[in-house]
Amino acid sequence: MLRLRELSGQVMAVYDELSEQFGSYQREQGLSCIQGCGACCNNPDIEVSVLEMLPYALHLFDIGQAETVLDTLDVATGFSCIMYQRASLDGKQGQCSVYQWRPGICRMFGAAGYKTKTGTATLSVCGVIKAQVPAKYANALIAIGSTKPPMLADGRSRLAQLDYLLGEKLLPINEALAAALGRVLTLAAYSVGDDTPTPVVAA
Ligand code: SF4
Ligand code: SF4
Repeated sequence: MLRLRELSGQVMAVYDELSEQFGSYQREQGLSCIQGCGACCNNPDIEVSVLEMLPYALHLFDIGQAETVLDTLDVATGFSCIMYQRASLDGKQGQCSVYQWRPGICRMFGAAGYKTKTGTATLSVCGVIKAQVPAKYANALIAIGSTKPPMLADGRSRLAQLDYLLGEKLLPINEALAAALGRVLTLAAYSVGDDTPTPVVAA
């Protein structure tokens, strides 16, 4: 369990860096998320690693909510990420209920670099942002030679390097949270007496 807590601290440290790196690029290019939009969270197929859900799973364990949330996940309907709070009937407006614990992909998504099949670096911008600020999207594409976007794959890789067993495989987000909770609860059951919670500071 202590190893899991150390790992969680390392994940949060990478999260801080990813939030800063991707957030800075998005702000500089005028490609930040649209206020109140949560369209991409209204989707249960967002893929993350179990490692990415570890800090939140440990937090739930520390506040005594791990079993309750695991039970909720067992009966989740699968319409969206269970951490998403809808603010409109169609689910396109809303917010993350666990913003400080959100996984890596949620810190990078929106506007990020990726490589095409031919290995050329290009820019991926979500459809909502593209539609809202098409000129800024076009400018960012034109500037890609001099102002390179941070690469999504690099962010993924930095996280996976912390622990390949938990960080390599991607699962739908609700499944990944359930797996992280299962791991925390199992390890907790076998480590009675050697687990002193060390608060992990969320960004
Ligand atoms: S964790 Fe939060 S930001 Fe990420 S998909 Fe779920 S609701 Fe959205
Ligand atoms: S990435 Fe796009 S779809 Fe997702 S919350 Fe931001 S603006 Fe909305």
